[in-house]
Order: sequence, then C-alpha cells, then structure tokens
Amino acid sequence: MKAFQLVASGQGEVRDVEVPEPRAGEVLVKVAGAGVCHSDLHLLRTQVLPYPMTLGHEPAGHVAALGPQVTGWTVGEPVICYIVWGCGLCRRCAAGAENACERFPRGMVPGPGLGHPGAMAEYLVAPARCLVPLGRLDPVDAAPLADAALTPYHAIDRCRALLTPSATAVVIGVGGLGHMAVQILRAVTSSRIVAVDVDESRLAAARGYGADDTVPAGPDAAARVLGLTRGLGAEVVLDFVGTDGTLALGASVVSSYGHISTVGLAGGSLPFPAAAVGLPWGVTITKPYGGTRADLHEVLALAAAGRIRATVERHPLSAAMSVLKRLEAVEVTGRAVLVP
Ligand code: NAD
Ligand code: ZN
Ligand code: ZN
Repeated sequence: MKAFQLVASGQGEVRDVEVPEPRAGEVLVKVAGAGVCHSDLHLLRTQVLPYPMTLGHEPAGHVAALGPQVTGWTVGEPVICYIVWGCGLCRRCAAGAENACERFPRGMVPGPGLGHPGAMAEYLVAPARCLVPLGRLDPVDAAPLADAALTPYHAIDRCRALLTPSATAVVIGVGGLGHMAVQILRAVTSSRIVAVDVDESRLAAARGYGADDTVPAGPDAAARVLGLTRGLGAEVVLDFVGTDGTLALGASVVSSYGHISTVGLAGGSLPFPAAAVGLPWGVTITKPYGGTRADLHEVLALAAAGRIRATVERHPLSAAMSVLKRLEAVEVTGRAVLVP
C-alpha cells in the first residue's frame, strides 16, 4: 500500500509499504480520510520519533478485517479511531482517559502517527477498543473530529463550570482546532466567544462558526479583549497557538480565578511569578493532551446532531507534503484531509 512517511528531518514522501496484519485485539481499517494537524508540522520539523514514520493521527474509514478473536465489528462498517492508545489497563485508562495513561507519566502517550504507523496510508491497524462507529457521518468529513474536535472538546470540558452565560471564552488561533473550538463552545455553552487570529479571513470565518466578537492578534489585542469584558478579563482562554506572544496575551486577558488552557505546542513559555503582581489571583493554567474515549463519543454526538462540523479540504495522499506546506503558510481553510 501507499503510505506518507517521514524519512528525515523536514522530509516526507509517499512510499510503498506492507499492508499491516491485525493481531489479537486489533482491527484493520481501510482509511477513507486522514486529517492533517499542525502537530504533523511539528513532527516534520523536529524529530521526536524514529524514521521512517507513517504520519496521520486523524483517522476515519471502514473496518476491513478483524484480528484473531476480535468480535463486535462488521467488515465495511464506517468508524473513527480514538487516537491516544494507552495501556488500556491502568486507573486512567480504565476511566477512558487514555490520554493520561499512567504507563507514560511524562512523555507523550503514543497513537497512530504518533509512535504507531498512522493514517496517512491506505490501511491502518488500531486496537479494537479504540474504534467508534460513525453511523451516518461521512468518514472523510468526520476524520478531523478525531483530534481537531476531540482536543478542544476536552479542553472546554475541563473548565465547563466557568463557562456560564455571563462568562467570556477567548479562542486564540482559529485554525483546525480553533474553528472546532468555537463551534463546540457555541454548542455546549451560552458564554460570549471572542476569537483572536493573525489572519483576517479566519476572523471572518469565526463569526460564521459562532464567535460573538473577533480581535486581530497584535499589540492592541489585550486591550480590545479587556474592553469587551468591562476590564475584568475572560474566564476562559483557549490558546491553540502556544507562542510566547499568545501565552502573554492569555495571561493579560484572563480574569481572576480564570482558566488558561494551552493546547498549542509552539514551544512558548509563560513566567509564573509567585508574587502579588503578574497573573491575576486564582488563575489555573493547564496543558491538556487530546481527550478521553468518552469525549470522542460526545464529539460524535454533537456532529451527528449537526451542532458541529469540520470545514474540510480534500486532497489526495500524494499531495501530503504540499498540504503540510500550505498548512505552514496558513493557507488551509478549516482542516485538510488526505484521501488515500
Ligand atoms: P492550524 O495551523 O490549523 O491553526 C493555527 C491557527 O493559529 C491559524 O489560524 C493561524 O492563523 C493562527 N495563529 C498563528 N499565530 C497566531 C498568533 N500569534 N495569534 C493568533 N493566532 C495565530 O493548527 P491546528 O492544527 O489547529 O493546531 C494548533 C496547535 O495545537 C498546534 O501547535 C498543534 O501542534 C497543537 N495541538 C495540540 C494538541 C494537544 O493535545 N495538546 C492536539 C492537537 C494539536
Ligand atoms: Zn493533532
Ligand atoms: Zn493506561
């Protein structure tokens, strides 16, 4: 089969590889769509995994074959794949929070395209417990739900109590994850949503997804957000970028006893002074990873009800490298999905 593999730093290519065989407890999935995440760009630029590495951690497709003793799945059934493959046995995994698996207390919990062969290929092998039926959802359009919706859903769920009707949520970066975050906030809360991006067209799109206000990133952004919140700041800041600049913006606009969720992995850092100045009192700063298996079911329920929908650009697998370049150049609208 064809698979898009990282072969060296900054270098990826479509190669011929063996179709994987599902073992006990595993299912072979014929990939219909594989979303392209900004994390794939981080993986392209910085080696954290051994080469060659098949990328792709937003998989959806159809069940193609069952490993020995696997039951409960029908060949041809459309499925999406939960992408954080913990040990399946520890306390956290037992609760469905494989994204916090105790087997990986510090490093990244692996998943497809994140340590295991990924979805930018014709076939993918996945643990049977990590598949979820898609029902009537189209697998290509649904693929981004596996990460671009799961991760913001999880981040939002962790601070849901703060998201009251009088509260404000700031979404920084309205790309693949951010455009889903705005829709999820709209669907599960009545809070005011303020979207921030460097790109004007993203801000216009954000209004369509349900943002109440938009603010261009830049030196005036903090004052603009504070102006929208009577100077009090936002109860929740969701940062889908993660540079020094966006972290500083979050710190400047979060309210006292507010919550900053740093989802973006651009490598920025934020001073955390134990002092009466700097961050407001009572602030929580979190660094969530992916979501839980239960979160994926909630995301699919939102999608099935038509409350959230990824804006999808379809591209052939052979275009993987050029799609990554377009993502880097902020040229992708919504989420790019590779169709093998
Ligand atoms: P994307 O490229 O689709 O979107 C990024 C958006 O941020 C774009 O709209 C861009 O215009 C905007 N942006 C860039 N710089 C900005 C700035 N200074 N201020 C405001 N907006 C700015 O990326 P994506 O796929 O949505 O991923 C976003 C980040 O989340 C990446 O760093 C990715 O690695 C990370 N991520 C983390 C997790 C996790 O579990 N923690 C999961 C998935 C992705
Ligand atoms: Zn991702
Ligand atoms: Zn575990």
